[in-house]
Amino acid sequence: MDSRVDAEWLMLHAFDVDRAWLFAHALSPVAAEQAQRFDILVERRVGGEPVAYILGRKGFWSMDLQVTPATLIPRPETELLVELALERIPADMPVAVVDLGTGSGAIALALAKERPRARVLATDRSANALDIARGNAQRLGLERVAFAQGSWCAPLHGQRVDLIVSNPPYIEHDDVYLARGDLRFEPRDALASGVDGLEAIRDIVAHAGAHLSDGGWLLLEHGWKQGASVRLLLEESGFIDFFTARDLEGRERVSGGRVRSDQ
Ligand code: GLN
Repeated sequence: MDSRVDAEWLMLHAFDVDRAWLFAHALSPVAAEQAQRFDILVERRVGGEPVAYILGRKGFWSMDLQVTPATLIPRPETELLVELALERIPADMPVAVVDLGTGSGAIALALAKERPRARVLATDRSANALDIARGNAQRLGLERVAFAQGSWCAPLHGQRVDLIVSNPPYIEHDDVYLARGDLRFEPRDALASGVDGLEAIRDIVAHAGAHLSDGGWLLLEHGWKQGASVRLLLEESGFIDFFTARDLEGRERVSGGRVRSDQ
């Protein structure tokens, strides 16, 4: 994000006004107290804190979500995962969908919003993240989303669903990228996953099949260099029709596969 845009967000927050107000009053002097509030926010930003954590919110899929340092900040590229999931959830059927490692609830809530008939379950290992996700569900009037605590497929307890989606951690644990920018402030467990970044994905792919109904899909976000590895993992675990989709930057970003319908 560029610094002008960041400053504008911080100013809207400090002054508690909307963008239209800001432009209408661009030349008006501000009260000392307002200026001071803005300065404090700018200091935090200069210290590296992500704008989303300073504001306590982030836009995702036309929703305004509360985010805290207990949750990853939703990224625009994750909207690709939402789109691919929606293609697999008919609007007129009570399809059962699970979002593993929901964080702020971004994916689960977007799916619930677009598919009122779907039965959406959101899981997370972190109780703090689940509290944030539940709060977001309430604020958005999406109370029908269910929540369960636990690691990856563990909270599914033998249940079978039609679609499993996840944006798990997928960065290599010693990647220098983790020590830069916003990532320094985000929960490490939501970002990094073992030596090759694939530990969580391996776990999910190994267990998801047992929790999918006939022909059900698994869709996973991953790093832009991990497409081939994830497709291979899917193939090794017996998934069919596996594919990788590219994000708006043209990078491999989401892979998926379906369980055979004769299983
Ligand atoms: N896409 C994020 C990033 O690279 C990482 C999110 C994740 O690990 N799931 O900044």
